[in-house]
Formats: sequence, C-alpha cells, structure tokens
Amino acid sequence: MSRRNQVLRNSHSEFERPGFVFRKEIASRGANLMLHCDDVPLPALAKRYGTPLYVYSATAVRQRLKAFEDAFRDVAHTICYSVKANSNLSILRLLAKSGCGFDVVSEGELERVRAAAPQTVSKIVFSGVGKSSGEINAALKAGILIFNVESESELSRLAECTEKLRKTARVALRVNPDVAADTHPYIATGLHKHKFGVPIASALALYARAAQAKYLKVAGVSVHIGSQITDVAPFEEAMIRLADLVRALRTQGQAIEYVDVGGGLGIDYRQARNDFAEYVGNYARAVTGPMRGLGIHLLLEPGRSILGPAGVLLTAVLYKKQNDGKRFVIVDAAMNDLIRPALYHAYHEIVAVVQTRNLSSQETVDVVGPVCESGDFFARDRELPEMEEGDLLAILDTGAYGMVLSSNYNSRPRAAEVLVSGKSVKVIRRREKVRDLYVAEL
Ligand SMILES: *Cc1c(COP(=O)(O)O)cnc(C)c1O
Repeated sequence: MSRRNQVLRNSHSEFERPGFVFRKEIASRGANLMLHCDDVPLPALAKRYGTPLYVYSATAVRQRLKAFEDAFRDVAHTICYSVKANSNLSILRLLAKSGCGFDVVSEGELERVRAAAPQTVSKIVFSGVGKSSGEINAALKAGILIFNVESESELSRLAECTEKLRKTARVALRVNPDVAADTHPYIATGLHKHKFGVPIASALALYARAAQAKYLKVAGVSVHIGSQITDVAPFEEAMIRLADLVRALRTQGQAIEYVDVGGGLGIDYRQARNDFAEYVGNYARAVTGPMRGLGIHLLLEPGRSILGPAGVLLTAVLYKKQNDGKRFVIVDAAMNDLIRPALYHAYHEIVAVVQTRNLSSQETVDVVGPVCESGDFFARDRELPEMEEGDLLAILDTGAYGMVLSSNYNSRPRAAEVLVSGKSVKVIRRREKVRDLYVAEL
C-alpha cells in the first residue's frame, strides 16, 4: 500500500499540498471530504466540463516557480521553462507573466511561445538533436536568445542558415558530460551511448570551428543529463565538468557568458513533498557551487518540477469487473490521455475524489482504461477505497508529460483542460469533438 493512501486513511489533513487539498465542501450539508483544486471542488468541475479532464492549479504553478526563483536569487539566471512538459498556451502565458523564458525543441513549440507570449522571444533557447533547416530559419527570424547545438553537422547547417539570412546566432554546444543518473532508461540522456550532445572531449575543437563562422557567436555551453532525477549529485558532477570546460574555452579566447544547466529535476510521485523549497535549494547549491567565481549567467530549463504536481487527471469510473478474483476498475480516461504508466512504467498516485464510504473498506484493483491494449492501465494491484460506477478518481502529478503526450488512439477525442486560480476556472483547451478527429483527412 502506498504511503499516501495510508496517510489519507489516517488523517485527511495531512494530504495538504499547494493546489490540491481535501476539505469539506461548504455548500453540501454532508461531512464529505472532497478534493479541491485551489478553492474549487473537483466534482463541480467534472459535472460542468465532463471527464476525463485535466485540472491545473495556477497557485501551485506560481508557488513552484517562485521556489525556483528564490533558490537561485543569488546568481544571475533565467528560468527557461521546458515547453515540452506542458505546452498549453494559457500555461505558457501564466509562466511568462511570472518572468519565465522558454526552452523549445521544435518550430511548433517556438510558435506556441510566440502566440502566447511574443515578448519573451529574446528569452528562448532552442534545444533538440534534429533541428531542420526550416526550424532553424524560423528561430533565426524570430530572434531567439541562443541555439543549443548538438552535433558538428548541425553546427554546419546553422552556419549555412545564418549566412543565407545574414543573421547572427548565439550558440552553445550541448555537451554530453558522461555522467550516470538514476532514472528510467528512456529519459536518461547524459551518457556517451545516448544520442544527445557532443562528447566533452571533442567540444574544444568544435568550439574553435564555431568561432570561425561569420555569423555564429559562441556564447555558452549547455547540458541536460536526463529527466526525473531526484538525487542532486549527478547535477553537481555535470557542472564540475562544465566549469572545467568553461575555463578551457576562455583560455582559448572564447567568450562564454551562459551556462545552460538543462532541466531534469525529479518529483516524488509516491508521496507529496512539502519541502519543495528546501529540495530546490539543495539543487541550486549543487548546480551553482562549481560555477562560483566564473561570472556566468545560468539558464535553467525545468519542466516537470514546475508543472508535474500542479495538475491532476480527473476521471470517472465506468464499470467494475472481476475476472477469476482479479478486480478491475474501468475508468473513462485511457492511455491515449496519459501514457506515462504504459511508456515508462510510471507510478501515479490515485485518490478517490470524494471520501464518503467507510475508508476501511478497501480493495485491491487494477485501474484501467477502455483502450484495446493490455498496456492501458494507470495502476496495478492498487489498494483503493471501494469504488462504485460514476465515482470520481484523481490521477495525481499529471501536470507534466500528461496532455502533451496524449493522442487520438482508438479515435478517442482528447480531454479538455481547465486552469483554476483561487475560485476562478478557465477552460484552457476545449474538449475535442469527434469531428475534430478527421477534419484533416480526405
Ligand atoms: C526535456 C528537457 C528538459 C526538461 O526536463 P524536465 O525533466 O521536465 O525538467 C529540459 N531541457 C531539455 C534539453 C530537455 O530535453
């Protein structure tokens, strides 16, 4: 049994976390505890907007971003939120209002940022191992801050594009520091066997080449060692290697102004943490320590750590069934809405939204969706309060890498998304209609 469900059973108040809290609904006379997003009870959202529904707390997003800003306040830095974690325009707007720049990995993400917050273009970093000429040209014309270049071939391509457009590009090389981080193999990126970056040993020669290109301005070094890393030691290790590289480059006469730390700070999917500020503080110390005295401007690219715990996927129980003693709760969300369990064997905490029935009557169930794949599950052998058809469940910590990885598999229209701020609720993406599924087809 998970620790959080234990906590829930013993004391609801201990569940409290920014953005999502169990409390009594004032309007209802009963003593039911209901999960709220900010000041809004989730059952009201389900009733009004239907399920499955992604629900985000603006308060949680702001608080988490502020924790980051506070942790790095003593050093020159820009937070370039990683758009791929959650790219909804309203989320980007919210972050831009709080001062964020952005890390993009495609022309699509670049255009999302330009649509949501055109004034932040000068704070965009462009990452990615396979930027096409079209994408490079779009970013050059837009006037972004810096390109994180990942190979010699890409460097040549970028140089060509800048010459054609006669536009100068600031460049950093994304180096592969060859540090191991304990995370899922699909989201580890910092070892030489991964496709990302250039080996740190060949970086000096490449920088020398870059410096010769007429329209390239060497300005930084960058790194991203992977995602969902909860131990700060590998970040520190990578920064030690990067600091050495900065010194070596400066000896060669290269003007290195920026160090891009990448993203990757993990979250605790098993248990809500109330010590986020302390955790980010440790991360900040690990990252800034090796850079001390270098007069560097840090670029930070957090994604998951800002958005992950700020969202839940709200879903309703369609059916219950039992096959030879194995119990299933079939819900109306599926792997097309949230693929993390199927793709990464990710664990997500799941809670009953309304805590009515005797909480001692728990049962062990698989929570599964309607899609025709055995991989379509959200939890296996999970102990949950006994559910009935129509009951609501919240799949927690789905604000990052949830909606962005959704698809229309099984011709299922995508879920709606709402952003809650205090008492106010805004639909930030309408539910897809069946017709949306085939409008682009012949
Ligand atoms: C994915 C990615 C990020 C964000 O990672 P999180 O784990 O969400 O913080 C940052 N930078 C780059 C280059 C990435 O590919």
